[in-house]
Amino acid sequence: MIATTRPRQPRPLVLVNIGQLLTLRSTTLRPRRGASLSKLGIIQDAAVLCLGGKIVSVGKTEDALRDPWLKKNRKKVTEIDCGGRVVLPGFVDSHTHPVFTEPRLVDFEKRIAGASYEEIAEAGGGIRSSLEGVRKASKAALAGKVLDVLGEMVSHGTTTVEAKSGYGLCLESELKSLEAIRAAARQWPGAVVPTFLGAHVVPPEYRGRSREYVDIVCKKMIPAVAKGKLAQFVDVFCDRGAFNAEETAQIFAAAGEHGLAARAHMGQLSETPLEPFLKYRPASLDHMDHVNDADLPALVASDTVATLVPGANYFLGLSQYPNARRFIEAGVAVALATDYNPGSSPTLSMPMAMSLACTQMKMSPAEAIAAATINGAWALRLADRKGSIEPGKDADLAVFDVKDYREIPYWFGVNRCAATIIGGAVHA
Ligand SMILES: [Zn+2]
Repeated sequence: MIATTRPRQPRPLVLVNIGQLLTLRSTTLRPRRGASLSKLGIIQDAAVLCLGGKIVSVGKTEDALRDPWLKKNRKKVTEIDCGGRVVLPGFVDSHTHPVFTEPRLVDFEKRIAGASYEEIAEAGGGIRSSLEGVRKASKAALAGKVLDVLGEMVSHGTTTVEAKSGYGLCLESELKSLEAIRAAARQWPGAVVPTFLGAHVVPPEYRGRSREYVDIVCKKMIPAVAKGKLAQFVDVFCDRGAFNAEETAQIFAAAGEHGLAARAHMGQLSETPLEPFLKYRPASLDHMDHVNDADLPALVASDTVATLVPGANYFLGLSQYPNARRFIEAGVAVALATDYNPGSSPTLSMPMAMSLACTQMKMSPAEAIAAATINGAWALRLADRKGSIEPGKDADLAVFDVKDYREIPYWFGVNRCAATIIGGAVHA
């Protein structure tokens, strides 16, 4: 289920004088892999016409201006003169944790002073320290926090967001978190894909009894989430200090029994064999810092996307990043996301994630853009509607105040997004 709000049809919209239009058009109905990740489908001096929230035509400005329908209806159409700027599909941020109340500033200082992510978690910091705030907060307060973040994401060019629960870790607070996501999504023009992450970590009251907690996730939480139609995906943090492979498989199976698709945090801190999970057809496996070569052929043969989140490596001060080049050269479908969360990646900027992908993971600017748009859409199973600028797709576009697309990851730490268009309406 994708929550979108389109209270009324926007006026027809035409963007003209686009210096570089990155269409990301595809010839195949599969995620981008290998060399196809660099093919942006660029049209120079381009125009895009949007009607009824959809893209209806894409081409050269001079051709668009000669179009008989446009000539006849010019007064009814909102026209944006892009003045040679770059236009690309709105970003698809396919991995975020927006339901929390406070930043984790103590953890931030401890880490600067030398503590590791796991040492902080052991001392009661980390994910567990966000529990209290979420458990005490009202649904309305959480929805307000989520809506603020979604609003800021739009101003950075993001139009589709996956949003996870996972800081409640009891039935009541997980449902409250997902209801908060739904309430925020109803007030936001973009698309929000909700994910249930009850298996983020074992909550303190079940310390040492993770099997019991997994039983509650599978037998109580997942059925309640499915019954309330509160999520499309079930996510698991499969790693050292969180949930093991057997528990992850059990949760994936429970998700499937209730009609929910699977995705997982995988290989962030330690290596777990991936092949046993692929039979559950996860839409995406995320982080992927530690992946064995033996797993690559099965991953390549699947439609599971590897979603890389370099913001987490950056913010945790790690010198190692996921090996994007190895994935791309093997033919794994790679996406990029922010992993927006208070502990390891407090950024909501997709251009920042792309900049890190270029400088730290040696992805080219073109690869980073495809990974942040069309492959993000594949990672959310939305590629039929999102992630490229082609007739029939949702009119979700970002206008960047640059002349060359390579400037988007180049100017790091500043926001060059000049306007964001969602469902054919201008939002920033
Ligand atoms: Zn995450």
